[in-house]
Amino acid sequence: MPELPEVETVRRQLSRRIPGRMILRVEVHDPLCVAPADPEELRVLEGREVRRVARRGKHLLIHLDDGAALVVHLRMTGRLLWHAPGRADDADRFLRAVVALDDGSRLAFADQRRFGRLRVLPAGGDPEAFWRGRVGAEPLGAGFDNAALARALRGRSTPVKAALLNQALVAGVGNIYADEALFRARIHPLTDAGALGPRRVAALREAIVDVLEQGVATGGASIRDYADAEGARGGMQDVLRVHLREGEPCVRCGAVIRKLRVAQRGTYVCPACQRRGR
Ligand SMILES: [Zn+2]
Repeated sequence: MPELPEVETVRRQLSRRIPGRMILRVEVHDPLCVAPADPEELRVLEGREVRRVARRGKHLLIHLDDGAALVVHLRMTGRLLWHAPGRADDADRFLRAVVALDDGSRLAFADQRRFGRLRVLPAGGDPEAFWRGRVGAEPLGAGFDNAALARALRGRSTPVKAALLNQALVAGVGNIYADEALFRARIHPLTDAGALGPRRVAALREAIVDVLEQGVATGGASIRDYADAEGARGGMQDVLRVHLREGEPCVRCGAVIRKLRVAQRGTYVCPACQRRGR
């Protein structure tokens, strides 16, 4: 499932391709991908020029010249592919929508499991109202200091891993990067989020930033479906230290990595480096 580094990789690629281009046509092949909107509502994008491509948590935002934005949420298996002029995209049997641009290039939204969504944030709306309660602190943003993470975790009796997966607390961290960050910070995923003292909060913040930056630097993790905007795989899956390594020796201490279930998600932990109740 694409997390912050994967979405950021797509954002960087599209930022080199689509600003300055005009949207000629929006073709919705599967109405579910724009639900609850009607596919016709996306036609307001036609004739608008792309200004810039941004990201908020795991959401991509394509900002347009009239102040509106197209928000793309890839969710489980969504891909947003950039197709050069002349390339046919109809071969993809999971194609759900196409945004045709004035230079003949196209943005193809493909999604096998159909959880991904396209949505229009209208011009003149309040974008912060849209994000409030939905997306919390940006971990690669300037405001993500120890105090911000401490605030997000304070008073929470949920496992720290569940708190990290809560997009309203920390935006963009999902199952892969939560496991990797907790491993690096030597924190057991079932530790109460609210029980972490300042020293461990600081270690966790540093670990979150480190793993996300490494994810971006390697082009994201392609474990199952993820591909970037050009259809290529990332490299992060090859350098994971704990996630998916059940039964293998810990790279730090040699103990056997175990798999648990936390917040309904497969969770990987070194029982020696990440002790409970510390
Ligand atoms: Zn270990």
